[in-house]
Amino acid sequence: MKISGKAKLAFVMGCPVGHSLSPRLHNYWLEKYGIDGAYVPLEASPRNLGSVISALPLMGFRGGNITIPHKEEALKLAGKADETAKKAGAANTLVFENGDITAYNTDIYGFAASLEEQGFQGDKAVVLGAGGAARAVVLGLLAKGVKDITVINRTAERAVALSQEFGVSWAMWENREEALIGAALLVNTTSLGMVNHPPLELGLSALPPSALVFDIIYNPRETALLAAAKARGNKTANGLDMLIHQAVPGFELWFGVRPEVTPELKTCLLSS
Ligand code: NAP
Repeated sequence: MKISGKAKLAFVMGCPVGHSLSPRLHNYWLEKYGIDGAYVPLEASPRNLGSVISALPLMGFRGGNITIPHKEEALKLAGKADETAKKAGAANTLVFENGDITAYNTDIYGFAASLEEQGFQGDKAVVLGAGGAARAVVLGLLAKGVKDITVINRTAERAVALSQEFGVSWAMWENREEALIGAALLVNTTSLGMVNHPPLELGLSALPPSALVFDIIYNPRETALLAAAKARGNKTANGLDMLIHQAVPGFELWFGVRPEVTPELKTCLLSS
């Protein structure tokens, strides 16, 4: 890796941040394109977020990624925001330029690009969850022109609020299995199934075998939901695809090169 005194710098900030795959991902691209730069993990507590973010441009950073639990707060701290961050109500990417901090939300692009990669074509989608990631997923689906979207969340009030804001349907958590009838796409955006979290309890018998099942969790790579979907012949996609694609616009904004998503990159990340 080439790092000189003039190296371009970017970061991922979270609390905790040690689990993040983003340093491996961005440093792979820096190496591949021979860029004099570095991408580093930075841990900041919610209490210190404002002071840490305001110091980074002064230290020469060009920007970085923001992860759990700082995405909403980072949007508030940024002086400017593009449409993606405004609509999502959260920032996962910051750019420092000419004294400004601009917020972006590239999770929307990351999800939509993963669907594109899967060759997804369909009109009926069921989205489990109504948190920050669900907002990005619904916006990605709307951007792709998916017409019939149903949001289903344990806390019904959050599903109702999201459905009203984005003009989509909602259903009760108890009715999640029957909502799968006729669906072309099922997306899990809840934390159920993630390592150290309870499993997602969901029978798939009502889901058409032609449907794509997308679990945006990337740890583990194959959740019980994806394993069950695969076993009955459904096509599947995992959160690693979305994570890789959401990184593309940020890398381009900080380092000036639009990086390629290749099978070699995925192999490198899977070997971690
Ligand atoms: P969040 O805002 O905290 O939302 C969590 C969601 O999970 C809520 O809908 C919540 O429902 C639901 N949930 C939690 N525990 C539950 C339970 N016991 N039963 C039913 N529902 C439950 O989190 P987030 O930012 O949206 O992230 C959600 C997941 O997406 C995480 O696993 C995260 O790693 C993943 N993610 C992946 C990517 C990627 O690039 N692959 C990007 C962003 C996020 P309530 O509203 O009822 O609490």
